[in-house]
Amino acid sequence: MAKHYDVVIIGAGPGGYTAAMKAAEFGLKAVVIEAKKFGGTCVNRGCIPTKALLHASNMFHMMQNCDEFGVSTDFISFDFGKMQKYKKAAVKRYRQGIESQFDKLDVDVVYGTALLRRDKTVEVNLSGGGKEYFQGEAVIIATGAVPIMNHIPGADLPGVWNSDRLLAAESWNFDRLVIMGGGVIAVEFATIFNNLCSHVTIVEKGRHLMAPMDDVVGERLEEELKRKGISVYCNSTVTEITQENGSLCCTVTPNEEGESITVRGAQVLMAIGRKPDLSGLLGEDMSLEMENGRLKVSKEFETSEPGVYAIGDVAAKTLLAHVAAAQGTYVVERIAGKTHSVKLEVVPGGMYVPLPIVPNCIYTNPEIATVGITAETARASGLKVRCGHFSMRDNGKSIITGEEHGFIRLVFEAYSNTIIGAQMMCPRATDMIGEIATAIANGLTAEQMSFAMRAQPTYNEGIGAAIWDAMSGDVE
Ligand code: FAD
Repeated sequence: MAKHYDVVIIGAGPGGYTAAMKAAEFGLKAVVIEAKKFGGTCVNRGCIPTKALLHASNMFHMMQNCDEFGVSTDFISFDFGKMQKYKKAAVKRYRQGIESQFDKLDVDVVYGTALLRRDKTVEVNLSGGGKEYFQGEAVIIATGAVPIMNHIPGADLPGVWNSDRLLAAESWNFDRLVIMGGGVIAVEFATIFNNLCSHVTIVEKGRHLMAPMDDVVGERLEEELKRKGISVYCNSTVTEITQENGSLCCTVTPNEEGESITVRGAQVLMAIGRKPDLSGLLGEDMSLEMENGRLKVSKEFETSEPGVYAIGDVAAKTLLAHVAAAQGTYVVERIAGKTHSVKLEVVPGGMYVPLPIVPNCIYTNPEIATVGITAETARASGLKVRCGHFSMRDNGKSIITGEEHGFIRLVFEAYSNTIIGAQMMCPRATDMIGEIATAIANGLTAEQMSFAMRAQPTYNEGIGAAIWDAMSGDVE
């Protein structure tokens, strides 16, 4: 006999747990089913552990380079075991924070693997043994995504890992690392290993790193990584991995003309993308339409089965924790018949181009953050733009902290002067992008943004300077 709920949620990552919190807020009877650990990829093997290791490795890197600030350190070393302990403690504290919020909510949490059957019935193989059945007025699939493995020869050799396995490993080999892929996960791991003095090589199939972002960001990031001693081969593919004298030898083949070369690594990280986690989710009496390898959903995130929704990495094109959370909120608001409190894009008055208001952040050194659209995308959509540029070389705080490599670029629609996008590569870009996301979400103009005072000395002053540059600049 199935237990009846208003909402049955499969997966307790940011999408699932946010949906459950919203359901409780609206007085809906909800259950969340989780196969592994509460918090999903983000908390356990994604955002939080990587940022903890980035922070720890950045500290080591800074200590090694603090002579110019008059700080001498005779002997600096790192203890990776302790870094791992700190990472685990950060993950645990964060996860427990979310779990304790749940303790106060009227939401049931069930540990086990869910199988979706017809009539919005979910069969759960409980982690502790046995089966239970749940039926929902609505079902939300929030099962996330898993790393894609490229089955080239040698892909199964020991030492060829994906991000899940690397983050789960107790010890890392800091000799040499080869990374297949040049997206966000790749460049963040490259930064951690580089900070800890490992030689890193990135092999990216596309013309630039960070392919979905604009070319300027990709090119500048490539320059920065190379300046730090990271080898980058774009427009190239790892076609084979062999093992020789204890090393992994990667054959790097240029996509167009040119000779293949061999790059050696003690470890190889495959960071070539992620695919929806649908393994074993659908019972034999249930099928859902797919589109481009993901679950097909409507604008309201409803799958081809009425009343069954899919949110987050399992269905989204943008695989980010805050996107999954926003979609979770959106869907539960729809189920509860409430007005939507979240927007994923806006169309400013007088404009016909939808602007994504999702901040994209990369925690490299310097950080990268973008929101809205680039000048190139705007022009391709028929808009005229006015751009504001600022080089962090001229920013007081950057001079003080010695972090002068970077820029801020703001994009305004030329006639209304409304902000439509920003690309930043500078210290604290991932925090500063929030100001621009707020401005875009509220359709602010350059003049309105310039009313705000920005403290001296802060990195934020760069935003003020870029606004002034745009206001005094020509239409492009
Ligand atoms: P997930 O977080 O993947 O959660 C899905 C949950 O469903 C999992 O817990 C899984 O165990 C469970 N599940 C799966 N199948 C079943 C089943 N059949 N029954 C029951 N439970 C099931 N995003 C950011 O925004 N910022 C970052 O800095 C960032 N860094 C990242 C770094 C790495 C290395 C990785 C891999 C990802 C990173 N991401 C980051 C992406 C982010 O983690 C995901 O976008 C986010 O976790 C997606 O949330 P979700 O709820 O859709 O799925």
